[in-house]
Amino acid sequence: MTASTDNASTAAKALAAAGDHDSARDVAALDGAARGVERKLAATRRGLVERLVYGPAPTLVELRSGAELAQRVAGSQRGIVDAALGALARGEAFTADAKLSSELRRTVAAEKAFGYTVPAGFGGAGASYGRLAAVEEALAANGLGPLAVEISGQLTIGAGSLLAYGDEQQQRTFLPLVAEGRPMAFGLTEVGVGVNAKKIQAYVEQQADGSYRLFAEGPANKLWITNAVHGGLIGIVARVGKDAPGIGLFIVELPGADVALDAAHDYEFRCEPSRVAAFVANFNSRLHFRNFPLPKGSRIPADGVEVLFYCLRMGRCMLAAMAAGYQRMLARDASHYARLRSGVGGPVIRHEVPRLNLGKILGGALQARSLAYLSLQQDADGVDLAGLRDLTKTAAACAGVESMLAAEHVLGGRAFHGGSRVNEARVNLHLFGVVEGEDDLILMGMVRDVTQRFVERYLSSLLGVIDGANQAPDGSKLPAEQRILRIAVGTVVREPVRSLSAVARLLAQSKFWHLVAWVIGNALADLVRLPLRLLPASAFGRYRALPAPLRGYARYAERKLRMLRWSYLGLSLFYQLELTRAQIPLQRLGKCMEHLVSMLAICQHAALGDETMRQVAALQAQLLQDKYRSLRLFSGLRAMQRTRRAVAAVGASLEAGRCSLIDDIEPQAFGHPWDEQAADKRRAP
Ligand SMILES: Cc1cc2nc3c(=O)[nH]c(=O)nc-3n(C[C@H](O)[C@H](O)[C@H](O)COP(=O)(O)OP(=O)(O)OC[C@H]3O[C@@H](n4cnc5c(N)ncnc54)[C@H](O)[C@@H]3O)c2cc1C
Repeated sequence: MTASTDNASTAAKALAAAGDHDSARDVAALDGAARGVERKLAATRRGLVERLVYGPAPTLVELRSGAELAQRVAGSQRGIVDAALGALARGEAFTADAKLSSELRRTVAAEKAFGYTVPAGFGGAGASYGRLAAVEEALAANGLGPLAVEISGQLTIGAGSLLAYGDEQQQRTFLPLVAEGRPMAFGLTEVGVGVNAKKIQAYVEQQADGSYRLFAEGPANKLWITNAVHGGLIGIVARVGKDAPGIGLFIVELPGADVALDAAHDYEFRCEPSRVAAFVANFNSRLHFRNFPLPKGSRIPADGVEVLFYCLRMGRCMLAAMAAGYQRMLARDASHYARLRSGVGGPVIRHEVPRLNLGKILGGALQARSLAYLSLQQDADGVDLAGLRDLTKTAAACAGVESMLAAEHVLGGRAFHGGSRVNEARVNLHLFGVVEGEDDLILMGMVRDVTQRFVERYLSSLLGVIDGANQAPDGSKLPAEQRILRIAVGTVVREPVRSLSAVARLLAQSKFWHLVAWVIGNALADLVRLPLRLLPASAFGRYRALPAPLRGYARYAERKLRMLRWSYLGLSLFYQLELTRAQIPLQRLGKCMEHLVSMLAICQHAALGDETMRQVAALQAQLLQDKYRSLRLFSGLRAMQRTRRAVAAVGASLEAGRCSLIDDIEPQAFGHPWDEQAADKRRAP
């Protein structure tokens, strides 16, 4: 797919118009997979974040629905968790080299943990994802985060992909195995390809009998594949034909041991530890396939990247539930220490800064939990999760890392004690920012999703007009250095004819006048609302339903979210086509949405909690408000432009390989070099 097709999203078209054809192609390809997911889910309501920004405001019932789900599922997870904790107490949960033990796996498999959300007809427990979130949170909270990671992978992207996209035969064959506890992995990432999923190089060749042969060699080896183990199951993503555009997904049972080419085998297979120093208690592998046989019927009838995107939405909710659990565990151990330990002038717990750190950890846990359950209930209610699923993940992952730092400041040296669960949580909490989508990329994608409808309805004509200004008289595109990306006073002075004719074309567009009408209508609506700000929050039924200390925060969050529609319009008018490259403002806007939606979710969640939960909510809402206020968008445009110029300069010198601070240091060779020819000859660590 190219960005120039009519089907490309506005974002891809804008990138192409700005001359960034590589990004346009990549974005268009990924958008195609995302649109497939939208069609499959067929949401009946627009995303919550979009409605919070552009209206109509969601009802109180909807905002509360996550907290109600959390209440309904609380305690339902005891069977699995008690079994796992029993194994932990008996010292059987981990092996001597700190891996999850087979005893633990057997114990929880007997409770149907690995088939928890698999329908009973396939041997699973048929539980909802809401109940799974309760299991995930409880395991992580009690020092069994690695088991939570394993079960989440097994059920969100493993069983999840089969349930949503597998045919009847595939479901009947593989789901009972999954439910029994056979590990199931999903293999997309390759040595040479990470976030740009559509670029994978592994491929299959179809055979005359309908079976396939899989080739994933060298840089196309599948890398960092969680749950991939000899004898396990895997959904493997590969091109359907070498260099072919189509990307398929194949379900296969991996051999019980490595296979070398010999008289008995015409194929090669290797599964070796990836040596990653995160998820260390789990299986995590690098997989090599040469001429590997995939039986007829192993192809799942779907695009592999689409399946990944489909499953990621539940993966992100589970990650947030795990992050909530991990942070509760940190808060428990750090507060216990602070109560027992004497610092300067009495127990550590008596001092304000350690208390702030403990409050931050608890607040992070509440934030991750409230967003996880809200997302899950929204999904169950048929609401489009675009926006919410993304900020749920980024908020949970960021809070997890910040809580880790806070725990270190309370626990001091013991936070690093080998074998302590706090120490062991560190790398996984860091990794949460990278897996299931890297946080910053997700935030920028979220802004696109939330604003997409507005852009298509009101701004696309503006972008089209600038695109037109960059056409040569013969219809070809002007060279990059002559292109106009935004029309401002300086451009009019430099390029008066092109700029003014673009403005004239803009004024002739009906969409431009729709935008003017939108601006007037929304400005009037805000004007009418203005006097209402004099009334206290308790004057509105919507906020009266909240405990008094939380009302102001919920109201603030909703008001500021509405104001973000102006911020986005302002940024769009200021940057115009350049916004396609202006990642810093987009990332900041995403952060603003993340902080404000988190504030709102926390307040609604704590409204159904006890007094101590409300105290935590009030503190976290205040801390989030402080963070939001420190992020200036339109009001800080000049400073942001200075930052962007400085970033551009530093980036350009690094790109050119010149920076005196590092010029005299040899870079270290990477693990898993991705271009075997050009790879550094030195041994990778
Ligand atoms: C422990 C572990 C478990 C994993 N489990 C699995 C698994 O089970 N299955 C699986 O398929 N994969 C798995 N992954 C892979 C994981 O999803 C990838 O690490 C991730 O997709 C990023 O790929 P990468 O590390 O190669 O980063 P790269 O693709 O090399 O990207 C490097 C950085 O550049 C940034 N970047 C790239 N392009 C842009 C841009 N246009 N703008 C701004 N920033 C950009 C990225 O966000 C990233 O931060 C796992 C990884 C780890 C470490």
